[in-house]
Amino acid sequence: MAPIDPSNRHRVIILGSGPAGLTAALYAARANLAPLVLEGTQPGGQLTITTDVENYPGFPEGILGPELMDKMREQAKRFGAEVKFEQVTSVDFTGHPRTVVTDGATYRGDAIVIATGASAMSLGLESEQKLMGYGVSSCATCDGFFFKEKELVVVGGGDSAIEEAIYLTKFATKVTVVHRRDELRASKIMQDRAFAHERVEFIWDSVVREILGSREDKVRGVVLENVKTGEVTEFPCQGVFVAIGHKPNTGFLEGVIDMDEKGYLVAEEPTTQTNVDGVFACGDVIDASYRQAVTAAGSGCKAAIDAERWLEARD
Ligand code: NAP
Repeated sequence: MAPIDPSNRHRVIILGSGPAGLTAALYAARANLAPLVLEGTQPGGQLTITTDVENYPGFPEGILGPELMDKMREQAKRFGAEVKFEQVTSVDFTGHPRTVVTDGATYRGDAIVIATGASAMSLGLESEQKLMGYGVSSCATCDGFFFKEKELVVVGGGDSAIEEAIYLTKFATKVTVVHRRDELRASKIMQDRAFAHERVEFIWDSVVREILGSREDKVRGVVLENVKTGEVTEFPCQGVFVAIGHKPNTGFLEGVIDMDEKGYLVAEEPTTQTNVDGVFACGDVIDASYRQAVTAAGSGCKAAIDAERWLEARD
């Protein structure tokens, strides 16, 4: 391997630039550790594909997701974090310092913070991409408030879909769950709640083939296909929530760090320490259940403090 440029040697390297990664960067920078943040393919993370964020404390009028992430990045940089738009392709955590390889360079770091987040799985439709943030969402807690008095479709049959459907009834006049089979994957208790709810309805054995609407006029309906009969119908609605699961961004860590069967990294709670000494994980990459900007930020703070303490103890 070619010798490492001395400027590529860091005390702390942070992988990922969502609320977890940038909060870890802020804390590490304020601890004089001059962290390097490798942003990944989606600088700012999942919040950059939402519009208004109204549940992040400190912004009583709300703030746009991309703007919030720009502010977090600026705040971390102000204290000495270095942020690079590079994608990590592989890591080697067998020796000290640890090695992180990106599409642009090879870095060495004493402590590593993994904050690569998770990605909501999408249906893979062009219309879904086009209308994301314009009537299509993958987060009811984030966007439900914008759908007061609307009729909504939730796609999926797991706990997330049912939880989102029930949550959305706070705002919507009707929520229709579209599921590709004739029975739900969700837990029995969630199913019972949904079946008992007067404003939750179901369309079974059906998949969404297209989402109808435009960015100007937002969503006006979906094209459904019944997978058993092949029948194609239009179903009117003003919003679509896709809740078919999340996938943690941990493919490059397989065989390197302990993860659960879904690919979420496992930390030694209540700390953020993984099974690899000096490698910490925070945010959605270790969290299948809360997945909020504020919980990710809190977890990023913990990871930076853990890394700082680990470095102090080691030094
Ligand atoms: P999940 O359990 O994997 O369910 C995903 C659902 O989406 C399934 O019903 C699946 O259909 C459907 N689906 C997947 N790909 C699809 C596609 N391309 N088109 C249409 N439908 C598709 O994911 P999740 O609901 O996000 O839950 C993830 C984990 O978090 C689970 O362990 C869950 O229990 C947990 N969780 C718990 C709570 C809670 O306890 N309050 C809340 C949320 C999540 P099939 O059923 O046909 O496979």
